[in-house]
Amino acid sequence: MYDLVIIGGGPTGLNVALTAEKAGLSYVVLEKGVLVNSIYQFPVNMTFFSTSQKLEIGETPFISHTDKPTRKEALEYYRRLQQSYKLKVKLYEPVVSMRRVGEKAYEIQTSKATYTAAHVVVATGFYDTPRMLHVPGEDLPKVKHYYDDAHPYVGQRVLVIGAANSACDVALETYQKGAEVTMAIRQHELYPKVKYWIKPNIENRIAEGSIQAHFNTEVKAIYPDRVDLEGPEGKFTIPNDFVLAMTGYEPNYALLAALGLPISEDAAALPLHDEETLETPLPGVYIAGVLCAGRRTSKLFIENTRDHGEIIIGQIVARKEVYAK
Ligand code: FAD
Repeated sequence: MYDLVIIGGGPTGLNVALTAEKAGLSYVVLEKGVLVNSIYQFPVNMTFFSTSQKLEIGETPFISHTDKPTRKEALEYYRRLQQSYKLKVKLYEPVVSMRRVGEKAYEIQTSKATYTAAHVVVATGFYDTPRMLHVPGEDLPKVKHYYDDAHPYVGQRVLVIGAANSACDVALETYQKGAEVTMAIRQHELYPKVKYWIKPNIENRIAEGSIQAHFNTEVKAIYPDRVDLEGPEGKFTIPNDFVLAMTGYEPNYALLAALGLPISEDAAALPLHDEETLETPLPGVYIAGVLCAGRRTSKLFIENTRDHGEIIIGQIVARKEVYAK
């Protein structure tokens, strides 16, 4: 019986684990993939928008070569963090369900074993479930919802769907490495909050015609050699080799249902929780990290959720002291 089971070994799960370790709690992190699985799947050459200082956890310095760290540096940071503090993490062990046992415990079922804990923190993020286009041809192998590297797209006709940071980054990187890039953008403009160091670059490439951008335009169907689009002047078809659908991600609601967590009925579809304590309607079960924002995935990030570990562990320690008396 653990004091705490943490579901998800991302920056948040590790933050909670580190705080639990320092507080002397018994805990285990259950991670379905590799350590910091989401970050491992980020584009190979990505640079964080936060400075390394603002990503630091547990007062452990995050050293990077420039002010904003790269994915590679972040992987090194989290690896060292886990190893230095000997954080108890079980990898390649997806959680599949959870149920309450008695008044004060939960049973957490993974692909390999069953764990019992007095408290549970769900920190599963949102990077596992891409927002689908729901158009014919989306299941073709040439359609990607994750982008890793520009090299496979050199000399190819690439359609980038979306207008936020990731779409702009991907359009620029593939164009710079030699792809013929077209963007399909549902709105009449790029996402206004595109980072200030990306925006002028993409706007200029579009203005000079190096990247073709179709605004107010939606994808209607995808075929092996072309894509059907619909814009203000009606339907049209462009030849195409790859579709990079940078349309965002959302929490894994099927998993949240299997854990028994209720969801708000508004557009944000939040896992219900108390904003101050992060506790869900299931006593002793908390959510943490970017998951707390539900579908509003740009609202929370690592930087502004770094206090979640302390908020949750503070309550667990206080409860343990009460029970011990
Ligand atoms: P995640 O990192 O997504 O961790 C969730 C973990 O849960 C994953 O490892 C996943 O494999 C695991 N998991 C899921 N389901 C299960 C299951 N059933 N069983 C067990 N484990 C499971 N934030 C910033 O503050 N600064 C930045 O500069 C920044 N840049 C970003 C750039 C990109 C391209 C993206 C996509 C996001 C960026 N963010 C940034 C946001 C933030 O980095 C990520 O969202 C961050 O990974 C969130 O941390 P998390 O631990 O809450 O969730």
